[in-house]
Order: sequence, then structure tokens, then C-alpha cells
Amino acid sequence: MPDNYPSPVRFKNLPLEQAAHLIVTAGEPAFRAKQVIKWVYQKRVDNFEGMKNISGVTREKLARLFAIDKLEVAVVHPSPRGDAVKFGFGLRDGSYIIESVLLLDGDRRTACLSSQLGCALGCTFCETGKLGLVRNLTQEEIIGQLIGIDDYCAAAGERPVTNIVFMGMGEALSNFEAFRASLAIIMHEECFNIGGRRITVSTAGVIPSIERLMREDLNIGLAISLNAYSNERRSAVMPINKKYPIEALTAIAARYFRSTGRRVTFEYIVIPGETDTDEAAQSLRRLLGSLTCKINLIPLNPTDGAAVPPSHAEMVRFAEALHRLGLLATVRTSRGRDIGGACGQLTAHEYTRAHAATAL
Ligand code: SF4
Repeated sequence: MPDNYPSPVRFKNLPLEQAAHLIVTAGEPAFRAKQVIKWVYQKRVDNFEGMKNISGVTREKLARLFAIDKLEVAVVHPSPRGDAVKFGFGLRDGSYIIESVLLLDGDRRTACLSSQLGCALGCTFCETGKLGLVRNLTQEEIIGQLIGIDDYCAAAGERPVTNIVFMGMGEALSNFEAFRASLAIIMHEECFNIGGRRITVSTAGVIPSIERLMREDLNIGLAISLNAYSNERRSAVMPINKKYPIEALTAIAARYFRSTGRRVTFEYIVIPGETDTDEAAQSLRRLLGSLTCKINLIPLNPTDGAAVPPSHAEMVRFAEALHRLGLLATVRTSRGRDIGGACGQLTAHEYTRAHAATAL
């Protein structure tokens, strides 16, 4: 092992090529790297003894070089409605658990992953934003959530995760390196083999990172949190709007479609009497009418107990008003709301055993 790697190296923090290089540098043949990568990401083992097609001597050597233990599953909270499971994962550095959600919808198993501990962007409706940014999550911590969720699926007799959304805690595009590195593993055919068409990243509108995403040619879905129909209103709830206003978002959405062929989704939170008025509908038509895009209507979630979410009938009424104006709008059911796993509800908790047992 080269001197600049602390030993043991945390395997799941390495890009696949680097992991392979280190295994070869340790005197093993190239195929050994493929074997280990499959054991770690496809079979999700957390120790080298489990790697049955590798000799005992080699397993002992690899165990001295690499650490492959998993994130601790601190809490698993299935929704009584059966359509979502919320997870709390303990971080190795001790003080927090991060949250992720599995959404079950027909044959689709969607993992909603967190990318940051807290978030610096401070959207007023978001529980994560209230924490501020504590730190970025590492590649290992992002992938670790998916491993933990797939472990749960396997134990429950469920099919593994089919789709990924980066819509958990944090702004993934503000943690671009770890996000990008995680995607490489999620998409790799010898790891999770989940294609770009089944992956979506949600952003508050970090435009330089969206440009980078286009340059990387990943062909993943892009969802932009719009949540307001004027710059004045958006700046009031999403401070990033002062830097990247709505016109900049619609311009980049048009470029994203031209460059990837993928229609951008605008997420829009419906607050009865506020964001579902005739004025709102007309403004959305002016802003989005010329784009090839979709509007995803999301019911407000009662994060603080004070707000009143819209009824399904109110959601449908607003969607129909948008359809009449020529906009494509869909009503999203807020899966996970009853377990605090819906949009804007995820947050990190101080990690104490007593707290973890009751907080999620
Ligand atoms: S909504 Fe997203 S970008 Fe805004 S504070 Fe919450 S996690 Fe950050």
C-alpha cells in the first residue's frame, strides 16, 4: 500500500479504478479487484471472510488493507400505510444520524438518498435547512445508505432498489465530487447497475453544477425546486433565488433539455390559497409555457404542525387549471408523510441511542 494511504483504507470512499489499482499494487491479479468490488457492492458483504471465492491468505491480506464495514442502521421506521420506509444511519464520526427513505410504488423501489449533513441553502420550508450545513457526506456515506436500504429489501423479501432520487437531506449539487463519485458506483454494471434514466437529482438551482452535470453527459433526470411563481416570492422562501433567479433556471432548463434530451421537472409546493391561485397559474404559464418541461405538484407538508396541507381535490383542481393553460402538471402523492419522510421533512438528529430510538 502506498504511504499516502492511511491503513486500512476505507474501500467505499475509493473510485472503482483506484480500488482496483490498490489491489493490484498489493500484488493481486486484476481479476481480484473485480471479485472484491462485486462482493462489496453487489453482494453487500461487510467483511472479507464472506468472500468465498478468494483464498484465506488473500482475504487476510485484503482485510489488513481495506475497511468495508457498513453504516450503522440506527433506526428503521416502516410507514403503517406500507408505501414508505424511513431509515436513520449512524455516521462513524459520532454525533448525527442521517435519514433516507425507501418509497414503494408498484414494482418500483425508489431510494431517496441524502447528500449532506444539513444544508447551507436555508429554504424556509425545509427541516434540513434549519440545521445549516454541518458537512458534506462522503462517497461511502452516500453509497452506504443505498447498501442499507438494499439490505432491508433483501431481508423483507422485496426486490432491490430500482430507482434513485437525490432528494434527501442536502443539496447534492453542492457536494458535487462525492455525488458524482457515488453515481459512478450506482450506475456501474458490476455494482448497482442503475441506469441514468432511473436516477434523478433535485436541486434548488445551483447553476454552475447543472452546467457541470451537462458536461459530464450522465443523462440523469434533473428536478428543479421552483416552489414559487415570482422572484419576490421565491426569494422569500429560497434565498438562493437572489443569486440564481427564475429566469436563470428556465434558461438552464431549456439548455438541459437541448443537451440531454431529458425534460426537466419543476417541483412546486402547493399551499392552499397561496401558490394555487389564478395569478399563480398564469405566472407559471408565462414562466414555463415555452419550455419542454413538467411541473410536479407537491402538497405542502406540515413540518411544524401549523401549516395546513392541501386536499387531494385542491391539488387536482390546480393541476387542471395548469392543463387548461397548456402546461404539463402531475400531482405527486406525498409518500412517507406519515413517517416524516416526505419532501422537506428529513433532518438529522443528534445521535444518541435514546434519541435515535424515539426521534424518527
Ligand atoms: S430544500 Fe433542499 S436546498 Fe433547500 S434547504 Fe432543504 S435540503 Fe437545502
